[in-house]
This record gives sequence, C-alpha cells and structure tokens, in this order.
Amino acid sequence: MYDCIIIGGGPAGVSSAINLKLLGKSFLWFSSAPKKVERAELIKNYPAFPSITGKELNEAFQKHIESLGIEMREEVVTGVYETDGHFTLLVQDKQYTAKTVILCLGVETSKPIDGEEEFLGRGVSYCATCDGFLYKGKKIAVLCTDKKFEHEAEFLCGIAEKAYVIPLYKGYEIKSPNAQIILKKPISVSGDMRLRKVNFKDESFEIDGMFILRGSVSPSTLVHGLKIEDGHIFVNRDCSTNIAGVFAAGDCTGRPYQYAKAVGEGNIAVHSVVEYLNNITR
Ligand SMILES: Cc1cc2nc3c(=O)[nH]c(=O)nc-3n(C[C@H](O)[C@H](O)[C@H](O)COP(=O)(O)OP(=O)(O)OC[C@H]3O[C@@H](n4cnc5c(N)ncnc54)[C@H](O)[C@@H]3O)c2cc1C
Repeated sequence: MYDCIIIGGGPAGVSSAINLKLLGKSFLWFSSAPKKVERAELIKNYPAFPSITGKELNEAFQKHIESLGIEMREEVVTGVYETDGHFTLLVQDKQYTAKTVILCLGVETSKPIDGEEEFLGRGVSYCATCDGFLYKGKKIAVLCTDKKFEHEAEFLCGIAEKAYVIPLYKGYEIKSPNAQIILKKPISVSGDMRLRKVNFKDESFEIDGMFILRGSVSPSTLVHGLKIEDGHIFVNRDCSTNIAGVFAAGDCTGRPYQYAKAVGEGNIAVHSVVEYLNNITR
C-alpha cells in the first residue's frame, strides 16, 4: 500500500510530488493531460521567473520532476473509496490503495449533464474497460470529449449492438459501423431505477447505458461525502478536507486561481500528509 496517491498533474500536483519524493514517501501520481499550465501566454507573477510563458514554466516543472526520477501516469481516476482506514482508487480497470490522497484536480470547465450523477452506477459509467462488457449487444450512448478517448469509444462500439457516439470536438474519426454520430450536446439523461434515455433539446434516444469519457470527474462524484463549499473542495488551513486522510490543493480548493497558490498548497498538503501518517502509525 502506498503512503499517498496524488490526483492531478498541474502545479499543485507537481509540488505535491516533489515534496513527497524529497520526504521519502511512497506514492503514485495520476493525471489526465495537464494542459492548463501551458495555456498562459505570459506569466509575470511567479517568483524567480520575471517573465515566462506557460509552456516554459511547464518545461521547468518537467525537468525538476525528471531530475528526481518521478513518474506521472497519464490516466484518469474515476473513483476514490474509503475502506478500513485506507483508500482504494479506480483507474481504468485497475485499483490502487493508499493511506492518504491529495486531490489536485484544478477547476472543472465542463459541468456534469443533468442526471449524470444520479444515474452513476445505474447506467452511467466513466470507464469503458471496467463496464463495457455489461453492454454487450445493447444500446449505448458514448459522450467523447476529446480525440484521445476515441480508442475507448471504438472499443465500446465493438461491444454494443448500437452506439450513439457524441463527439464534443472537431475532426472526429470514429468509424465503427454500428456507431451513429450525433453532433450536438445532450442536455440530460433520464430513467427510472436505471438509465433509459439520453435527451437532446429536440429529441431523445432510448439507451441501456451511457459512457462519459472526459479527463475529470467532479470532486463530489470522485470522493463520496467530500464537503464542497461555494463550488470548491472545503479545506482547512492545513489542506485537510472533511475526510480524514484526504487532502486537497490548488485551484480545486478555491480562489485565487494562481500557480504560486497551487504550488504552495501542494507543499502544505504534503506536510499534512506526513503528519497524518506519523499519527496513524504511532
Ligand atoms: C490562459 C490562462 C492563463 C493563466 N495565467 C496565469 C498567470 O499568469 N499567473 C498565475 O499565477 N496563474 C495563471 N493561470 C492559472 C493557473 O494556470 C492555475 O492557477 C494553475 O494551473 C492551477 O494549478 P492546479 O494544479 O491547481 O490545477 P490544474 O493546472 O488545472 O491541474 C489539474 C489537473 O488535474 C487533472 N485532473 C482532474 N481530475 C482528474 C482525475 N479525476 N483524474 C486524473 N486527473 C485529473 C486535470 O486534467 C488537470 O490536468 C492561468 C490560467 C489560464 C487558463
């Protein structure tokens, strides 16, 4: 079992990984592609770099990580479950366990679809390889938010009898013969005890299941029982959340959305993790 698992590869995750490594803790680090750090045209408020682009700052982060031999796994975490005082994380069809978790999730840019959280586990799934087999010969919808998820969409099309594939980007290349491409955004999913329909403004399709392939999951869906305040993960000054052993850092804990704040909180979260680990082994 690892001492810690970090979710999120932006500046808060980078800082957490560096500090965990330097403090000699065992950890895993997962993130979908950390793109935001590269988006800034010019950064003028990050100490030691009077004027630097987001791309250059990211390169400096990568060099630092590599110099310490740290590996970030480019995978999405779809669930965090607490069992017997430790945490099990779902990553595709694999599970990993740790004594603590640091959430460095950034802020979500896409809102969940109406009904998504209600039907999660009752027809809505985030994981093609974990749940795809449940829909052999059935009708599904696949919401694909990025080209990089197309292989998962194709995999699902190969299992289902029919797949309504909804690519939310330009230049899709999904070619499966049983895929019907829908070029509009769904407004909701609905059903009774189970998911039954995906609904658009002007029409609905009957389905048995819906796969939502995106790079993040809302914090409260990811970690059941996590306290959210004003749209952000509630944290104390030591970056602890309302769940013992779960810490959070960076944009996901609230404003200001800035590199220095994210990096600082990553550092605080790690020190709190170390204190927590010391307390549970005492
Ligand atoms: C255009 C632009 C310009 C900016 N300019 C500045 C500036 O000049 N100065 C400044 O201080 N700040 C600036 N910022 C803000 C800065 O980029 C953010 O404050 C910073 O990136 C926050 O870091 P973070 O680690 O908290 O989150 P992020 O950088 O958002 O990283 C979070 C990561 O976690 C991943 N993730 C989320 N959920 C999961 C999951 N379930 N599984 C796996 N991975 C997951 C996300 O995909 C993402 O890669 C700018 C931002 C933008 C967009």
